[in-house]
Amino acid sequence: MNTYGWAARDSSGILSPFHFERRANDDNDITIKILFCGICHSDLHFAKNEAGMTSYPFVPGHEIVGEVTKVGHNVTKFKIGDKAGVGCMVGSCGSCENCKQDLEVYCPEMIWTLKTFGGYSENIVIDEHFAVLIPNSLPLHGAAPLLCAGITVYSPMMYYGLCKPGQHLGVVGLGGLGHVAVKFAKALGMKVTVISTSPSKKNEAVERLGVDSFLVSHDQEQLQGAMGTMDGIIDTVSGPHSILPLINLLKTNGKLVAVGVPTEAPEIPYIPLIMGRKLIGGSAAGGMKETQEMVDFAAKHNIIADIEVIPMDYVNTAMERLAKGDVKYRFVIDVANTLNSSF
Ligand code: NAP
Ligand code: ZN
Repeated sequence: MNTYGWAARDSSGILSPFHFERRANDDNDITIKILFCGICHSDLHFAKNEAGMTSYPFVPGHEIVGEVTKVGHNVTKFKIGDKAGVGCMVGSCGSCENCKQDLEVYCPEMIWTLKTFGGYSENIVIDEHFAVLIPNSLPLHGAAPLLCAGITVYSPMMYYGLCKPGQHLGVVGLGGLGHVAVKFAKALGMKVTVISTSPSKKNEAVERLGVDSFLVSHDQEQLQGAMGTMDGIIDTVSGPHSILPLINLLKTNGKLVAVGVPTEAPEIPYIPLIMGRKLIGGSAAGGMKETQEMVDFAAKHNIIADIEVIPMDYVNTAMERLAKGDVKYRFVIDVANTLNSSF
């Protein structure tokens, strides 16, 4: 199927219109007409080949929502007209230990959406297993970022047990991932502290997102005052930073979970971990079963991302602004209404 989207051609990361082929809709597949697609920081890392893993031309986009326009003979989860979402992965082996435990994202043969042609495009053909049903009550543009940002913070909160009412959660980096983590944590009845490099985000974080406290990460006095108070921390930071101050914020037995992929890996200070029986863990997105559970949880609690909707031809400016942290808190491309006119 001939389709079109926007692609980066080299590590400048600059995107421009691009025609390519999608596979035909097979028996287990659905075709989704893409309506909205979020811009995750991973799209930016990949467009600029910051991890050295990008193949060009690269069509970003892995926070995809749209309408099902075709269903294969074996499809059971979807019918034409349903709203569907696609996130970080489009395939896995289906038979390894991870796949059998609904942890497809850890399958050695898992296929990242970013390694195929992604959602800054007109449509996508995907095995129904790798799509989730978006409940009708969720506005689609605000739901798009749940497909990556949402599951990437929800999954570790559940797995590491950082989801209980009354627990104190630190969220480092108030960006796309971070602000959704705040919303989930507040819905779960947790106390939330944001640790941020941007004092300008404080008022809104407290007044609109309802965070209980806001620490500016370069203010030693503020950090000192919060030492040893947190049960867990979700670190969503995309750039170089030190984790020692974060470890110091944890209580004994506290857990620091890395989900951000900083351009330089931080050093791990062993002694402060040892002296507080603390853990550092990591987490990648989440399996498909849990992604559906997360979307349903979001629908139940009316959680969507705070977004700035943009036309397709604004994408390069949006990427520049994202690199500077100038977005509250997620850009979402209005694909259906603006992709055509961008050609
Ligand atoms: P984002 O919207 O750009 O948010 C990142 C936030 O981190 C920024 O808003 C900023 O918040 C803070 N920050 C940025 N640079 C920093 C630096 N050098 N030092 C300290 N703080 C800094 O990005 P995102 O889309 O949320 O993604 C965040 C990271 O997660 C990216 O690296 C992305 O690739 C990664 N990611 C991982 C997974 C996974 O599966 N594990 C999935 C999706 C994304 P403040 O202004 O509040 O400081
Ligand atoms: Zn992402």
